[in-house]
Amino acid sequence: MNATPVLRVQNVRKRFGDHVALDGISLDVHEGEVVTVIGPSGSGKSTLVRCVHQLEGIDGGAMYLDGELLGHESHRGHLRPLPDRRVAAQRGRMGMVFQQFNLFAHWSVLRNLTEAQVAVHGRTPERAREEALRLLERVGLAGKADAHPRQLSGGQQQRVAIARALATDPRIMLFDEPTSALDPELVDEVLGVVRALAAGGMTMIIVTHEMAFAREVADRCVFMEHGRVVETGTPEEIFDRPSSPRLRAFLSRF
Ligand code: ADP
Ligand code: MG
Repeated sequence: MNATPVLRVQNVRKRFGDHVALDGISLDVHEGEVVTVIGPSGSGKSTLVRCVHQLEGIDGGAMYLDGELLGHESHRGHLRPLPDRRVAAQRGRMGMVFQQFNLFAHWSVLRNLTEAQVAVHGRTPERAREEALRLLERVGLAGKADAHPRQLSGGQQQRVAIARALATDPRIMLFDEPTSALDPELVDEVLGVVRALAAGGMTMIIVTHEMAFAREVADRCVFMEHGRVVETGTPEEIFDRPSSPRLRAFLSRF
């Protein structure tokens, strides 16, 4: 593929004190591609998506969204940090879904879905509301607009969180273990929504411990360990013909 990737992650490094969380990660995600990220706990998967979403700064390397540098701009031959409002605008072009849903508990479902549309994209409240209702229907929650998060199951809350992330028409969706906080019987309703997004051509990075899902939904799968990409390939390559002993050891645990 020669087109500009939707997301380019180039040799990204991230430290927490002395601890190297990302040790030179490179990853391109093309339009319509679904990349799943697997790896042991502590391997840097969350840090990777958090850095892409600019919830964390990076210590080296660069990231680009549709060819545009994330978080910085060049100014007289130097890089300087973007002002907050421009970072917010870049973040608005990505949708992030967290393990713990992260909905605003004291807001209705509707307000959870409309706030960013109005604040980041300058939509009118009416247009934001229309969009929110359309998205709620899409995630199977028509009729829940006036509910508060605590009145919903974990699976429903996570579907609201997905709808919220979609509400700003993101170029890419980032999922960080979207089903890890759910009771087992609620996992499928959330995976179903993610599957439908994949079928609709959404560009996505999905960090997951659900190995069957990581295989089924992916165009490409990335295995991380110790802040590095150890192996990347098609689902068949990663799950049927893993070449690294580390990946084989990891997969044998499931
Ligand atoms: P994963 O999501 O693969 O389990 P993380 O990205 O959460 O891994 O963490 C990678 C490493 O970075 C771990 O060793 C973790 O303890 C460390 N780490 C993550 N976030 C922080 C933080 N905010 N402060 C200090 N260390 C962190
Ligand atoms: Mg994590």
